[in-house]
Amino acid sequence: MALSASLILVFAIITYVLVRQNTDSQRSNLAEQSKSFAALATKPIGDTFVLYKDSGRIRINQQINRFLELDPDVVSVTIVGIDGQPLFDSSETASQPIDPALANSFQQQVTTDPAGNPSRVIEPYIEDSGAHRYSVVYNISSERLKEEIAEVGRSILYIGLAVLIFSIALTTILLNKFFIKPISEVSRTARLISAGELDHKISVVSKDEIGELAKSVSTMAETLKSDIHKLRELDKMKSEFMMITSHNLRTPLTIMEGYVEMAKEAKSVEQLQEIINTISTNVTRLGLFAEDILTISTLESGEQTVRHEPLNAKDLLDNLFAEFEQLAISKGLAWKAENSISEETIIQGSKSHLNTAIGNVLDNAIKFTKKGGSVTVTASRDVSSIKITVSDTGIGISSEELPKIFIKFHRGTSTMTYDYEGTGIGLYLTRLILQQHGGSINATSKLGVGSVFVLAIPASAQAS
Ligand code: ADP
Repeated sequence: MALSASLILVFAIITYVLVRQNTDSQRSNLAEQSKSFAALATKPIGDTFVLYKDSGRIRINQQINRFLELDPDVVSVTIVGIDGQPLFDSSETASQPIDPALANSFQQQVTTDPAGNPSRVIEPYIEDSGAHRYSVVYNISSERLKEEIAEVGRSILYIGLAVLIFSIALTTILLNKFFIKPISEVSRTARLISAGELDHKISVVSKDEIGELAKSVSTMAETLKSDIHKLRELDKMKSEFMMITSHNLRTPLTIMEGYVEMAKEAKSVEQLQEIINTISTNVTRLGLFAEDILTISTLESGEQTVRHEPLNAKDLLDNLFAEFEQLAISKGLAWKAENSISEETIIQGSKSHLNTAIGNVLDNAIKFTKKGGSVTVTASRDVSSIKITVSDTGIGISSEELPKIFIKFHRGTSTMTYDYEGTGIGLYLTRLILQQHGGSINATSKLGVGSVFVLAIPASAQAS
């Protein structure tokens, strides 16, 4: 609106200035033309009058009209004496006397009407003898001038209007193309995005502010999409977590419930002792599971990091190996352990967390190896870390299964039987703890042949 109003104002000013300039120039053209015509025509008109003044008005008129045809703006001439009294008028109207001072002058005199248009030119007629007895008054009509000015004004107006309409149309088209359309596209997309259509793309690619806005809206949609995806994933993981956790809590509880019932009807002290042992194993299982879950959630939340203290790597591993050796032997496995780490090797870490992490791997090796098989553990040191290798001749892991074993709650399909108890969080927790120590864990395995787990933990300089 404001733009159109400004255009109209500019257009009006330009039109006014052009018409004004044209009027002034047309007016002075008419004056100049009439003055030159008077200068040229006065001698023959005066001579005609002198020659025919006694032959009558009609005769004089016949002669004079030939001259008047040469200038259409001069509508009539009047011959006046030097006293200003009219002696002859080419029109049939009675002419008025003019000021004797003008009639008597040897100079050409031009008078104008109130509008500033030339209305009369008085030119002295000098006879061949040099006498000045008459003056010729040229009566000028400004009608043609007015018409011409009006015509020019109209032309300027039409051209101006055409230019105005064209510029308004062009402005509208440009505004629409570069502003209104892209803005409506952005706002339409924003509406769709807020209605949940996050895949909707904006086609605005301009490099101006609107393009920037479009980019921001697209980025916002992308971020929203990825956030929603993450939230959904999180939600899925949460439900999965709840399901598995409640399963892992319920199983030992159900077992214990059954045994408590059995205890009520126990026939002997030995039977009661057996029942109490089973209940105690399940209580330990439950406690360990709860502890693992707690460790995972504190480590995952990042609220708490593992508290590091200098640990003697050799002692830590010797103790662990001795503990699991008992378990392996009691299961009927061959156990081989070799710890070549020097007494001085120090690792920075949390003893309990590292016991859990390494213990999980040792426990798995024993758990997944059948009676008669063997478990071999070695511990060595290189420049910057200690390396623990746990090999077994157990059931092995298929190549499809292998990449999944570190995923939280993942349990191998072939091991989800009553033969192998488990929760699927052991290796996940091990990796989480090792990462907290700047370490790593990798596995290689062959189904039916056995598995090798290699753990690395950064070791600091030798103890001083
Ligand atoms: P869990 O032992 O409680 O099932 P883990 O996270 O410790 O959970 O292990 C995940 C899965 O990896 C196991 O269910 C099993 O299928 C496989 N796995 C781990 N260690 C071994 C191993 N030494 N031999 C064969 N399979 C193994």
